[in-house]
Amino acid sequence: MLNDEKPLNFIEEIIEDDLHNGKHGGRVLTRFPPEPNGYLHIGHAKSICLNFGLAERYQGKTNLRFDDTNPVTEDTAYVESIKKDIQWLGFQWAQELYTSDYFETLYNFAVDLIKKDLAYVDDSTAEEIAAAKGTPTEPGVPTPYRDRSIEENLQLFQEMREGKYRDGEKVLRAKIDLANPNMHLRDPLLYRIKHAHHHRTGDAWCIYPMYDFAHGQSDSIEQITHSICTLEFIPHRPLYDWCINKLEIFPSKQYEFARLNLSYTVMSKRKLLQLVNEKYVESWDDPRMPTISGLRRRGYTPASIRNFCDRIGVQKRENMIDVSLLEFCIREDLNHSAWRRMAVLDPIKMVITNYPNDHVEELIGENNPEVEGGEGTRVIPFSKELWIERDDFMEEPPKKFFRLGPGLSVRLKHAYIVTCNDFVKDENGKVIEIYCTYAPNSKSGEDTSGLKVKGTIHWVSVEHAKEAEVRLYDRLFNDENPAAAEDFKQSINPNSLTIIEKAYIEPDLMEATPKKGYQFIRLGYFTLDSKSTTDNLVFNRTVTLKDSWAKEVKKG
Ligand code: ATP
Ligand code: MG
Repeated sequence: MLNDEKPLNFIEEIIEDDLHNGKHGGRVLTRFPPEPNGYLHIGHAKSICLNFGLAERYQGKTNLRFDDTNPVTEDTAYVESIKKDIQWLGFQWAQELYTSDYFETLYNFAVDLIKKDLAYVDDSTAEEIAAAKGTPTEPGVPTPYRDRSIEENLQLFQEMREGKYRDGEKVLRAKIDLANPNMHLRDPLLYRIKHAHHHRTGDAWCIYPMYDFAHGQSDSIEQITHSICTLEFIPHRPLYDWCINKLEIFPSKQYEFARLNLSYTVMSKRKLLQLVNEKYVESWDDPRMPTISGLRRRGYTPASIRNFCDRIGVQKRENMIDVSLLEFCIREDLNHSAWRRMAVLDPIKMVITNYPNDHVEELIGENNPEVEGGEGTRVIPFSKELWIERDDFMEEPPKKFFRLGPGLSVRLKHAYIVTCNDFVKDENGKVIEIYCTYAPNSKSGEDTSGLKVKGTIHWVSVEHAKEAEVRLYDRLFNDENPAAAEDFKQSINPNSLTIIEKAYIEPDLMEATPKKGYQFIRLGYFTLDSKSTTDNLVFNRTVTLKDSWAKEVKKG
C-alpha cells in the first residue's frame, strides 16, 4: 500500500485491512496512555514510536491521555516530565487528555450498567470477594449482595459517590459470569472507594474507576480506532469488549504487542522509583537510568532512540533485547554527528625538549571529519609541555606497542612526530614526566620528514588545558535480567559510575553545550552534563567507541 520497503508489522497489517474495508471511514486514531506515576523509560519509547509512528504512516493522529485513575501515586511533576520526553523524542500529540476528565461520564456509564442489571454494589471485603471468586478450575459463587435490586444498587452507588462509606466498605462490580474460565470476567470490580486527594480533581471524588472500567471507555469516548497495549492485557480484552458492547458506545478495539525487555536493567516504574528513593542513583534522570530523561542526560539523541525502536520492531511474543543494540544505535548516530575533541583522563606530562620555550602554535582541527566540509574547525594550541594519557607510555614496552616508551616514536594528533628519550619517576617509582624530541618537519598535513610511525596519540597543551570532571558509566546491573531475581537490587553493579575529578580538556570544550555530542578522540563519546556549570564542568561518557563489553563476554 505504501511504498516503504520494510515488511508490515502485524498491527500495520490490521490497520491496512481496516482501511481496505473502509472501517472507521479510513480514520486512524491511536493514543499513548501513560499513568503519571513516574518518568518514561525506553520501554515507553517503544510504545510511543509505535503509536505515533502508525498515526504518521496512515495520516492519522495520536492522543496523549494521562491514565490518572489512581490518586495516591500520581503527580503533576510526572505529567510535565512525560510531555517533555515525548516532545523531545520528536512527536506531537493531537490532544492532551486526562482520564480524570471523564470521571462524570464514566460514573454515568456505571449507572447505565446498573440500570441494565449488569452491575451491583457488593459489601463484601476484598478477602471475601477473592475467596468467592473460585479458581481457574473451580467456578466462583455469588456473594450475598449479587441479587440486590436495581433501585437499591442505584441508591448505594450514589451514596458511595457522596462519601457515605469508608475505603473498602463497598465496591461496584460488573455482573457477568462467576463460572467464566477467564477470571477477569468473574464479576470484576468497576469502582472502589478511596478517600484521597487527586492531583487534578482534588477532593471532588472519593470513588475511582478501575483500569478495566476506565481504559476502554476512555478509548471509546475519544473514538480511538486502534488501542494498542502490551501482552499482559490479552486476558482483559473480553472485558474491554464486554463494557463497550453493553454500554453501546463507540467500538474501539484493543491490540496487544510484546513489551520491550532490555538486558542489564529494570523497566518497571515501581522499581525505578525504588532506585531513586533508596539513592542507588542520583535521580530519575541519572545517566545510568533507562529513563528517557536519563538517556538524554547521558547523551543519547532522539534519532538514536527512534532508530533503536525501529530496529527492534513489533512482535507478538516477548523477548529480551540486548542493551548493546541500543549502544550500537547511539554510536552509529554520534559517529556521524559528534565533534572531535581531545581530552586526557589520566594525565602524565610530556616535555618536548627541543621545542622552543614559550612558543605556542595554533593548530587547526576539523570539527567533524565524517562529513564533507568538516562542519568548521577549531584552534588547538600546541606548546612545549603536553598532557598525554598515562597508558600511552610504558617503561618497558612489549613488541607491537605502537605508542611511547624509551626510544619509541608516535605522532601527536594534528601535530608532530615525537620520540621518547627519557623519563623521571617519583619516590614511589611512578613515572611523572617523560622527555621527547620532535621532528620540526613532521607537522600533520605538511610532513616532509619521511619518518614512519604506526601510532597516533591524543594530548592537551599543559598551559592551555582546562579542567573538567568526567563521569564514566557502566551497566547498572551485573545480571542480564535483574527483575527475574527475588530481589532485583541484589545484582546492582557497585562500579556503575567512575568519577574522574580532574581531566584535562582542550580549551575549545569550554564552549560545549549539553545537547551536543563530542568524540573525545580514542576515549569515547561524551556530552556536557545538564547540571554542569562553567566553574565546574562535567562531562558524561555516553558510550565507548567500541563494544568493549562484547569482548569481555567472549573472553569469558
Ligand atoms: P511500568 O510497569 O513500567 O510502570 P506501565 O505499563 O505501568 O509500565 P504506563 O504508564 O501504564 O506504564 O504505560 C503507558 C504505555 O506504555 C502503556 O500502553 C504500556 O503498555 C506501555 N509500556 C509500558 N512499558 C512498556 C514496555 N516495557 N515496552 C513497551 N511498552 C510499554
Ligand atoms: Mg500501568
